[in-house]
Amino acid sequence: MPTSELAPLAGRRASRLPVVDPATGEVFDDAPQLEPDALDAVVDRSRRAWHGWRSDPAARTTALRAAADAVEAAGDSLARLLTREQGKPLAESHAEVARTAARLRWFAELAPRTRRITDGRPVHSEIRWRSLGPVAAIVPWNFPLQLAAAKFAPALAAGNTVVLKPSPYTPLATGLLGSVLSTVLPEDVLTVVTGREPLGARLASHPGIRHVTFTGSVPTGRAVAGAATASLARVTLELGGNDAAVLLEDADVGRIADRLFWAAFRNCGQVCMAVKRVYAPARLHAQVVEALAERARTVAVGPGLDPDTRIGPVNNAAQLARVEQITRRALADGARAAAGGHRPDGPGYFFAPTVLTDVPPDSPVVTEEQFGPVLPVLPYRTLDEAVDAANGTGFGLGGSVWGTDLDRAEAVADRLECGTAWINHHAELSLAQPFAGVKDSGVGVAGGPWGLYGNLRPFVVHRPREERG
Ligand code: NAD
Repeated sequence: MPTSELAPLAGRRASRLPVVDPATGEVFDDAPQLEPDALDAVVDRSRRAWHGWRSDPAARTTALRAAADAVEAAGDSLARLLTREQGKPLAESHAEVARTAARLRWFAELAPRTRRITDGRPVHSEIRWRSLGPVAAIVPWNFPLQLAAAKFAPALAAGNTVVLKPSPYTPLATGLLGSVLSTVLPEDVLTVVTGREPLGARLASHPGIRHVTFTGSVPTGRAVAGAATASLARVTLELGGNDAAVLLEDADVGRIADRLFWAAFRNCGQVCMAVKRVYAPARLHAQVVEALAERARTVAVGPGLDPDTRIGPVNNAAQLARVEQITRRALADGARAAAGGHRPDGPGYFFAPTVLTDVPPDSPVVTEEQFGPVLPVLPYRTLDEAVDAANGTGFGLGGSVWGTDLDRAEAVADRLECGTAWINHHAELSLAQPFAGVKDSGVGVAGGPWGLYGNLRPFVVHRPREERG
């Protein structure tokens, strides 16, 4: 199977990149390992392809619509490969493929608006929009296809070309996606490059790249921002989160428990906008812990290809070690596992879905991003205390408030310092909304029309209404 357009080039140059199935812990395939020196040729080809791609908006719309169709047509192969290398249940992989196609279709119809400036001067002034050039898209392993599309769909719709680098943990489905899209997009408009570091660092600092759009962890985001200073490329960073869910006194625990559980444990908790901390009024705390723990104890955990599985393995050994270590530390700090708290016996990178209670508020499982199937539930006495705690980390991606009185819940949501807040839900996004974390959770705005303009530069023309002698 061709993994990417660059397979022959990469194969000639170096070793391959082994890919592990997290359900078994065994290598099951490999991907091209592109050596960083080969990026010069890749970016050069991307720049040359840009000249044709940027000049024909109607052809772009047609091509992006065809791209969405092609992704859907390849849905089964993409979903199976995604589950194999990422670990998520097959149904979730199918949903991710559908969201990938949806992003292409949505941005295919979006075009920037030329605007006239009317300020009383005898001049026609017009704001037009120009594409930037080759864009580097660097993405993590938790939603490899969907997050890639969230970057390349607006970048391509704006008239740029894209060099896409997936995580070395999940290069295969993205490579297949690149092959599928190469059947409908002009050559070199979208290029997938796979390999270990320093491939990403070199891409982020490449002088031919005009926009680096990155999704990943806060430390890597800082490194990417630093690397891009060399070329002064535009930088968009979508980084980690530590979203809090604040339950109010009138929350109906029985009614919300399922939604709250899945907001924390979907994709094995490996979601930037997962609920990563729950704050419950002291009166409801024990009931909330038990409702979540009961679900954690009984949910079907297993390989993603097993049709009964609802939660798969953690994606990789390093992340599993992190989840294990942060949980052990919480238990050593005095926390108690109401469910889980350990790795089950057997192969693969599994971790039992874990609900923690009696967690000290300064334990790293509360203050840092666990990014795995572990959820601390903390009691609070006053609402101010809960809001302060929710806002009390360096992150600011999302947050939610859960209660029966929606006006009251919305007033509390308004106090959250984050980019998106939900009431009685979490992490449901609209394609039309801006997506922007605050504090350490991000720089720049993605999503909706803002995502398109984030890939364009304004170009202003002033022309006199008439020529005077
Ligand atoms: P990561 O930061 O380790 O890696 C992200 C990508 O950067 C990968 O492709 C990686 O190979 C590449 N990379 C690594 N070092 C690099 C360097 N020096 N220069 C350039 N690129 C480099 O993140 P991860 O572990 O793959 O993903 C998990 C993180 O991503 C979590 O923090 C999660 O919250 C975050 N995330 C954020 C969002 C969002 O939209 N805000 C979405 C999904 C995940």
